[in-house]
Amino acid sequence: MSEVAPKVYGWCPGALRPMMSGDGLVVRIRAPLGRLTSDQAQAVADLSQRYGNGLLDLSARANLQMRGVSEKDHPILIAALQDLGLVDTDAATEARRNVLITPFWNQGDETHKLGQQLSNALTAATDLSLPGKFGFAIDTGPSPVLRDTAADIRIERNSDGLVLIADRAETGLPVTAATAVKEALSLAHWFLAHGGAPDGRGRMKTLIARRGPPSAHVANLGSPAERPILGQTATGQLVGLEFGQIPATSYAQLATHRALRLTPWRALLVEGASNLAPLPGLILDATDPRLRVSVCTGAPGCTQALSPTRQLARDLAPHVPAKSPLHLSGCAKGCAHPAAAPLTLTATGADTFNLIRNGKASDPPAKTHLSAADLRASPDLLTKGS
Ligand code: SF4
Repeated sequence: MSEVAPKVYGWCPGALRPMMSGDGLVVRIRAPLGRLTSDQAQAVADLSQRYGNGLLDLSARANLQMRGVSEKDHPILIAALQDLGLVDTDAATEARRNVLITPFWNQGDETHKLGQQLSNALTAATDLSLPGKFGFAIDTGPSPVLRDTAADIRIERNSDGLVLIADRAETGLPVTAATAVKEALSLAHWFLAHGGAPDGRGRMKTLIARRGPPSAHVANLGSPAERPILGQTATGQLVGLEFGQIPATSYAQLATHRALRLTPWRALLVEGASNLAPLPGLILDATDPRLRVSVCTGAPGCTQALSPTRQLARDLAPHVPAKSPLHLSGCAKGCAHPAAAPLTLTATGADTFNLIRNGKASDPPAKTHLSAADLRASPDLLTKGS
């Protein structure tokens, strides 16, 4: 274990409630339905260069993030984002409207309508006081593709129709397009009424592990599908971002004439696109070794980081075995990959890392005191010996 215990905040930054980090404010944009029009995307890219560090990050819940914003510029940035229709009227609404939607929807289809209805219902539900990270997923394509993404309440499809699921429950409630949103909000109230958030914190999966789902949740769940990694889909081209980050200039170019959909997979879906040209920070090939590495912001961007991470990730990526992805973490918190990974490097000092095999960033190491120079010189340290 690292000697330094990382701080757990229990909430995620938003645009209206940004989080201070090592390089300024982190401003996270929760774009309605996870989609930015061409004009919105190009304006956000411009704002990132004007008020942020000129880079855009994609979060694990498909939110777009700017970093390096000063407190002085924050109000100007928010006014500009509000003019673009990308920010709610207040921080409580922004936090509550935590809806992730499968990116493979079509204009006017059931998924699209449910996404709009649920977002509107959560915006209006001022009596609903949910924990900061509590979220909803609308995963109503032919088969679910968002099961690996954190969400507390899910709307999916089984062989009979729509089903509402409390996260980690093995059965759900049969619903229709007309009842799904109302029942989703009822399930959120059930979570609160049954002690799911003592002291304002808590997740559905913990409550379900403790007492199971409501008794009416008897429907079987659908089987999850393999999601496309990158490449052509019926909705457009899915392109990867190097470690979930892209220069704002590349983002703007990608958005020329096209809307961008945000995904939780460090990838953007470029609507209607095919055969996109390479751009800095963009990954077009599904076998690119950088896709095998998860890495967090690291130093100096994160105040909790004990070491820089990104350049080391870039240098080690070609040596990471295809079947053993690497998680490189600036501290034991493991933000970039909270679950266990085949290989994890956790910074324990300014230039020292622990190597953990088949574990989380905070688990006991197989090797200690590895420097970045050691790892660059002998990347087989990752896989050889004990
Ligand atoms: S895991 Fe990385 S981003 Fe998260 S707190 Fe630690 S250093 Fe910061």
